[in-house]
Amino acid sequence: MPDQEVFMRVPPPTPKRTVYTDAMQIFHRAADVIGLAPRVRLELEEPDYEHIFYITTKLKDRLVPLAPDQAREFGDLPATKLRNPDGLEPLADGNYILNGRALLGSDVSIRGGHLRLSEGGVYKLVPGESRRFKAYRVQHNQARGPYKGGIRYHHEVSLDLFKALAAEMTWKTAIVEIPFGGAKGGIQIDPRQYGKEEIEAITLRFMYKLKRLIGPEVDIPAPDVGTNPEVMGLLFRQYSDGENERHTLRGVVTGKDIRIGGSEGRVKATGRGVAFCIEDYYAEKGTSVHGKTFLVQGFGNVGSNVAEILHSMGARLLAVNDAEGTIYNGDGIDVPALISYVQDPKNLKRSVFGFPGAQRINKKDLFEIQADLLIPAALGGEITAEIAERLKVRLIAEGANGPTTPEADKIITRRCIDLIPDIIANAGGVTVSYYEWIQNKRMEAWSEAEVNRKLEFGMKRNWRIIRDISRNVPRQTEMHDSRRFCIGKEVDMRCAAMILALKRIEAHYQLEGFSQ
Ligand code: NAD
Repeated sequence: MPDQEVFMRVPPPTPKRTVYTDAMQIFHRAADVIGLAPRVRLELEEPDYEHIFYITTKLKDRLVPLAPDQAREFGDLPATKLRNPDGLEPLADGNYILNGRALLGSDVSIRGGHLRLSEGGVYKLVPGESRRFKAYRVQHNQARGPYKGGIRYHHEVSLDLFKALAAEMTWKTAIVEIPFGGAKGGIQIDPRQYGKEEIEAITLRFMYKLKRLIGPEVDIPAPDVGTNPEVMGLLFRQYSDGENERHTLRGVVTGKDIRIGGSEGRVKATGRGVAFCIEDYYAEKGTSVHGKTFLVQGFGNVGSNVAEILHSMGARLLAVNDAEGTIYNGDGIDVPALISYVQDPKNLKRSVFGFPGAQRINKKDLFEIQADLLIPAALGGEITAEIAERLKVRLIAEGANGPTTPEADKIITRRCIDLIPDIIANAGGVTVSYYEWIQNKRMEAWSEAEVNRKLEFGMKRNWRIIRDISRNVPRQTEMHDSRRFCIGKEVDMRCAAMILALKRIEAHYQLEGFSQ
């Protein structure tokens, strides 16, 4: 008879380290600390569903610039003067989308598939081809309500990344006490290399395939990196097209334009939520944001809005890094001017790079600038161990999802740099998405002041509970009650935030039980 023990002693295979296993380290740490019920742990450590699908589209014709030495061959080619230059759409990679209407009524000179634009430059005409894109939707958990999470359009995405981001949504929705679960998805694409009409076609096709998997009571997407209210409008249109009771479906996506059922305050909500946490952090220390200096990585929706709000509170932005470069001004960057610069339609890469009110520096130098706080608001994994050792800030407020690697996290704790972890810091966006969803359900429109007041309460109340868990100070005040969540010993802030999430989710399994 085989010895059972022998089988038992075979070590389990070591799981490969991925962005998902990294992200889940904190889940396991907090689950160990609170002794999370084993079955709840199994339910939460992998997503409910992982959907991968493919979408195809027919791209438009392009004009691709020739390198100067190749262009010389066409020195004698007469210039083509376009009657309707609006038909040419510039892309961030230097190409143009050539819409048919651009050439209508123009005197066109083409040689060997090349033309010279009267504005300068020789271009090769590349006919639009059909292309396939990989798309994802990960639905992590719905114990507390419908799956909820953003849609990311980015060239560096993967199933593991979306699993990590979907799980983060489960923690986040629990932390800010909104009745949703967690999901995330998107398309592997660099949206800046595609024209407006191409993005529209890709988005519609994406929803065509996604439609059977989601719904206003099932799974509710929202904007994330590379998507915006326009994309949400397209997703809504495609989801609801031709439906009899279309008006009842408006809550299928959040982050819509306010003219079509979006909420006042949603665009700035994530940045505002980060700012509320920072404000409360300083208030508790008996000081304020006024006069503090800060650094921002990423100047998109989250980074630019948090910078604008802190600037309006009297803080000084010293440096910004984004995908294209890094800028610095020791006297403080004029944030409204920087936002105008980034949003100028001529700034195709939407980058801070080249802003005249600051000097260029290297990305690595950003992390060595002495400042009161750093706000990572770009992508995940940017604060590595090496960077964590060099930081000269006292506080990190994580606007981005998962910006700090597990190794960096340990160094930040050892160096006593304070932390407002992502799952509370950037939960303002999903909180106002919830308000949008309620407004859609009730067919109401709340004022921005009302939205911001509720958001402030939601953020600060739960941030205070997390702080109490971390310090092991169970108490009840007018605003919050941390007695149920403190665990009898002190823990670091990241663990405290996860404990709050896990205790709230676990209660659903304990009180409702498991479906069989
Ligand atoms: P966005 O697309 O509006 O902006 C992203 C910014 O990051 C851009 O400035 C871009 O240049 C910069 N960036 C990209 N790659 C970079 C790199 N390698 N190095 C430096 N900068 C880089 O995206 P967003 O909506 O502002 O989201 C930013 C982060 O916040 C993401 O991690 C996202 O998941 C998280 N987040 C967003 C929301 C929301 O409501 N938008 C909510 C919660 C969390």
